[in-house]
Order: sequence, then structure tokens, then C-alpha cells
Amino acid sequence: MSYQVLARKWRPRDFGSLVGQEHVVRALRHALEQNRLHHAYLFTGTRGVGKTTLARILAKCLNCETGVTPEPCGKCSSCLEIDAGRFVDLLEVDAATNTRVDEMRQLLDTAQYAPTRARYKVYVIDEVHMLSTSAFNAMLKTLEEPPEHLKFILATTDPQRIPVTVLSRCLQFNLKQMPRAAIAAHLAKLLEAEKVAYEPDALPLIGRAAAGSMRDALSLLDQAIAHGAGKVSVNDVRDMLGAIDETYLLRILEAVAAGDGATVIGIATEMQARSLSFDTALADLGSLLLRIALAQTVAGAIEEDLPERERLVALAATLDPETVQLDYQIALQGRDDLVRAPDEYAGFVMTLLRMLAFRPEGGSVTSGLEVASARPATAPRSMRVSPAASPAAFDWADLVSKLQVTGAARELARNAELMRREGSAFELVVPKSKGYLAEKSYQDKLKAALEQHLGAGVTLKVVAAETRGNSMAAMEAIERDKRHAEATRSVQKDRFVQDLVEICDAKVIDSTIQATPRQS
Ligand SMILES: [Zn+2]
Repeated sequence: MSYQVLARKWRPRDFGSLVGQEHVVRALRHALEQNRLHHAYLFTGTRGVGKTTLARILAKCLNCETGVTPEPCGKCSSCLEIDAGRFVDLLEVDAATNTRVDEMRQLLDTAQYAPTRARYKVYVIDEVHMLSTSAFNAMLKTLEEPPEHLKFILATTDPQRIPVTVLSRCLQFNLKQMPRAAIAAHLAKLLEAEKVAYEPDALPLIGRAAAGSMRDALSLLDQAIAHGAGKVSVNDVRDMLGAIDETYLLRILEAVAAGDGATVIGIATEMQARSLSFDTALADLGSLLLRIALAQTVAGAIEEDLPERERLVALAATLDPETVQLDYQIALQGRDDLVRAPDEYAGFVMTLLRMLAFRPEGGSVTSGLEVASARPATAPRSMRVSPAASPAAFDWADLVSKLQVTGAARELARNAELMRREGSAFELVVPKSKGYLAEKSYQDKLKAALEQHLGAGVTLKVVAAETRGNSMAAMEAIERDKRHAEATRSVQKDRFVQDLVEICDAKVIDSTIQATPRQS
């Protein structure tokens, strides 16, 4: 398999070729130079960052025939056998499969004997957090009084699960996840050495997919070489990873920022024609927005070598931070909604339309429509919805249904019509027949519920006057009457009821007919 070729061939064999762990290497070099050796080391870090690789290098440093050194020769039989994985005095144990205490005891019993040939017997225990409590206790005894010739190198992805009694006896080093740029740079170096043709923009894609793991990056690179029949191209890598060309998403964000709905829909249609995953697209849109938000907060947060850097910086300058936050929320919510949408395309387009239609104001969400009147100069992306701006377009009923409000204050909200709204200032009108609902204590409760939902700063004015009959309560009453009429008609049309009326001279009492609750 070609995949083992690169990962194995390029497995670092000395400190110099280990990428991205300079802080650990520096400390270990120093200790080796000073011959200040600890008897137990603990390497922590996520998978694929080089914990066992580092353990093997350290084993060579300790056992190289040229002496304890930070620069093992790589040529003596100890170095060669360690590299080949057949050095008798280097024992590698995977704790995930050897958790039992008797296995640990057996291992520790043999630790008492002097090394066969080496200077030090080195025990590498990978995923050490998987050991059982009794296995840890057995190990602890050896750690408390270690034989001179024994070195423990423990590795784990989850140091919190290691008993503190064991932790306290180890010298701990935390290996970092490799940054995308460092991975891409390393892959470039390697491809040049291997004389494999590549497009530079393909490498950050692999770097990102590898999520900090050089091991994963190398196996992805091998797959990419196989996929591209000997060369590494951006398109092949994208296909292989199922990744979405970020230029689609950047174009979408730019069009959303410009309030250009037609372009947004056009790009979505293009993406559909290419059968791209809209779930991945929304996830990627989220990470683009995150990067924009970071760029707005921390100078230089966008990596210098990112191909899309310039456009991201431009977006960070164009969009205000609240909009970025809101769009991020909308993208995440859109992913959740995708499964319930009529189809993925519809869910995706709806999410983009939501980004176009809404923009934040004072920490709350308002429709673009409202902002258009409140902040005309800074509202390039308000969606023009016909009929032209009127408070009724704003969905008061929808807002009320989301409020945590009960009793008379709820009745006030249900029976009121929204007369005017500017930002967080609401003017409501209730029918004169329900003037009592305008009482101040009810208004205060409703105002509190609005603030709970929209944020502080809500003002509320309620008057009793002529209404248009489109309050939530009025609409519900109309709907109720309509359904009652439908139910009455269907009872009257029922053959059995008709027979009863005709044959038995029965009478239908309309007021007793109840519509069954509508299935939603
Ligand atoms: Zn050597």
C-alpha cells in the first residue's frame, strides 16, 4: 500500500526532523546534554501529533552506542534496531489492549532484570490512561522505586484519566497540534524530495482535513497521490476530501454583504448542479465566518499564506461584527434545519435568504426591513419585500409566540395590533372593548418578556383605539370560526346524520359541533 510508504518513510528519526514540537525537543535536548535524566516521561497530546515517534527517538538518545546524546548516530545496531522496531530492550505496550493487572504485573516483573544489551530498558506505554486502577497501582510501586536501568515513557491522549499519584512521578510534556501552515510546509518539503508534482493550494486543504495530526496528513497525502495518479492537484484533493471550493462560499458571503439576492441564489443553483453537499457547505460557511470574526477581533488572525486571505480580510472590513455573529448563528441553525427542510437545496437557500433578510440591531434580531428605515446608510443588504415597509410586515404574532408571558399580559399581547415599531420601540393598539388590557402592570409584564427575548432597552406604548382586526386573537377567532363552519358542513353532509334527520326527525344543534384540533 502506497499509504504506508510516506508515513513510514518520513517518520521522523531524530529531533531535527520532528516538526512542530520545538518546545518539547528543546527541553529534552537540554536534559540529555546535561545527563539529567528522569525515570518517567509522560507525553500528552491528541492523536497523530508524534507521541510514540518522540518516544522512539528518546529511546535511541538513551541507548545509542555513541553514548547518551541528543543526536543519536542512526547507524549503530541499537539505533538501527530501534528504527526497525526490533530492539529487545525497547518494549512498546498498548494499554488499550493490555489493561489487566496481571499483564501489568508480568511486565513489571521483567522490568527488574537488567537490560539484555542496552544501557537502559525502555518501556513505552501508549494510551496509558486505559490501564485499570489495579494496573496503575502495580505500576506505581515500580515508579516509586525504579531500578536504575529502567525508563518509562508514557503516552496519552487523555491525561486527566491518569491518577495524580502516577502523574506526580512523571515529567510531563504536552505535544501541540500541528498548525495547518506547518503541516502544509512539511508536505511541500516532502513532495519536493519525492519529486511529486503538486499545486501549492492543495496542501492547506490536506492540512485542514488532518486537524493537527501529521500522521493523518501523511496518509491523506498518500491517498491524494494515488487519487491524482502521481500528482497532487487542488481539484483532486477537493474531490477526495469531499471539500467544497471555498470560492463558492466566499462569493456567497460577498453577495450577502452586498444584499445581492439574485447572485446568492445563482451560486446555490450552481452548487446544486455540481451535487455539492449543502451540509458541508453550511459547516464551511460557519468556519469562514469564524475566521472573519477572529480577524475583526485579533489583528493578524488570518494566516498569511491562506489563498483566500485577501477576500476574508475584505469581508472582515465590510461586515460589522454583529452581522458576522448573526450569520454564524444562522449558518449553524441552518445545518440543524437541513434535515427537516423539504430537501437540502431548499434548506440551504432558506438559510441564505435568512442571512439576507435579517441583520442585528442593538443585540436583537430585526428584519432587514426595519433596519432599512432605522439605519438607511448602513443597510445595504436589507431585502426589499413588497408591500413596502409597514409594521404589519413584521410578524408580531410570531414574536408573541416566542415570548415567555402568561395571564393578562399574554392576553394583552394576543389582542394587540402592532401600530408602529422602530428598533426596540413598540406601539400597540388594543380594541376599545378590551381597553382594560392597557393597564400599566400588564404593560410592564409584557415589556419584561420582550426584553427577555430581545435584550434590554425595549419601550412599549399601548393605546385603546379602533383596530384593523388583525391581532393574534382576532386571527385565531377567524380561524376558529372557519374551522367550526367546516366541521358543521361536514356533519351536515354525513349520510348517517342525514338519515337520522330524515327518518327519525332528528335536529343537529350547530353549537355543539366541535372541530377536532388541527394536526400540525
Ligand atoms: Zn546510534
